[in-house]
Amino acid sequence: RRVVDRLSSTRCPTFSVEFFPPRNEAEETILWRSIRELEPLDPAYISITYGAGGSSRDGTIQNIARVATDTTLVPMAHLTAVNHSVAELRNVIGHFAAVGVHNILALRGDPPGDPMGEWVPHPEGLTYAEELVRLIRELGDFCVGVSAFPYGHPRSPDLETDTRYLLRKLDAGADFAIAQLFFEAEDFLRLRDRVATGSDALVLPGIMPLTTPRTWRKTIELSGAMPPRWLADRLEPLSDDPKAFRAEGLDVITELCERLLAEGVPELHFYTFNRSKATRELVDRLGLRSARTKPVLAAQS
Ligand code: FAD
Repeated sequence: RRVVDRLSSTRCPTFSVEFFPPRNEAEETILWRSIRELEPLDPAYISITYGAGGSSRDGTIQNIARVATDTTLVPMAHLTAVNHSVAELRNVIGHFAAVGVHNILALRGDPPGDPMGEWVPHPEGLTYAEELVRLIRELGDFCVGVSAFPYGHPRSPDLETDTRYLLRKLDAGADFAIAQLFFEAEDFLRLRDRVATGSDALVLPGIMPLTTPRTWRKTIELSGAMPPRWLADRLEPLSDDPKAFRAEGLDVITELCERLLAEGVPELHFYTFNRSKATRELVDRLGLRSARTKPVLAAQS
């Protein structure tokens, strides 16, 4: 049930899915419908992001525990250091282990409210994701992931510094990294090459199915970069035609994923906005397989 073990035992490219904690009962119903629709496709793991505070954090903790106990899926919890003392982080990590969640994506997080505002660590807390990786490692046999940024983290002065700190996180005991959203396969492949200069940890691409202008805007925002002109020219003229936008957006993402798979990327991490339809369509188009070990011949028959 460790993410890296699943990935190393699968012989065909596979996928994983990211959800966010539901804010109310209606959203919870949607989330669980999506989880149940994706379960038969056997993703390598599913993850739930960690919110800025209070009820959304409870939402992560409760729903990821439910994934562990009520489904056949492999759960991964995101966890951030924002507004947490080390004692609180220990409690949350201990709780994950107690409910059967042994995969954690260790993040520093952003200051609540203004992501680019001044980062103020909790007086008894942590400052960088690297420290959270160490803490999780100290507390048990977890599989630990970290974030990586194809264009560099927005706070990093340059790519060299960004790579140095990313390698330190991996060195601190992380097993793999998931890349922030990007526009072209080469952007991801260059990040993978930078990591390979100092680590043999896997780097997995984060992929947003471009189904609506909103997902396109979110991709630009999260990537922290300007999209290439050719890509904006394919999508933006379709902004007022939802059907045409969705068709073109999914073609764009299919082409991106095909290129990544051709470059030996073993797994694609899909952002879902808690819906499953676009992810299911992409899994089908790309011929992604179950993460369960299967003899190749049996899998083909
Ligand atoms: P860090 O790795 O700590 O890096 C932060 C900055 O500090 C970088 O510029 C880095 O280069 C620099 N740095 C690192 N170590 C050092 C050091 N020792 N000395 C000096 N500088 C250093 N946010 C959430 O709130 N919840 C989520 O669930 C969530 N999930 C995410 C999932 C993915 C796949 C990604 C890519 C991001 C996610 N985020 C999430 C966003 C993330 O929390 C923010 O991007 C945050 O700004 C950085 O977190 P980090 O873990 O990358 O930080």
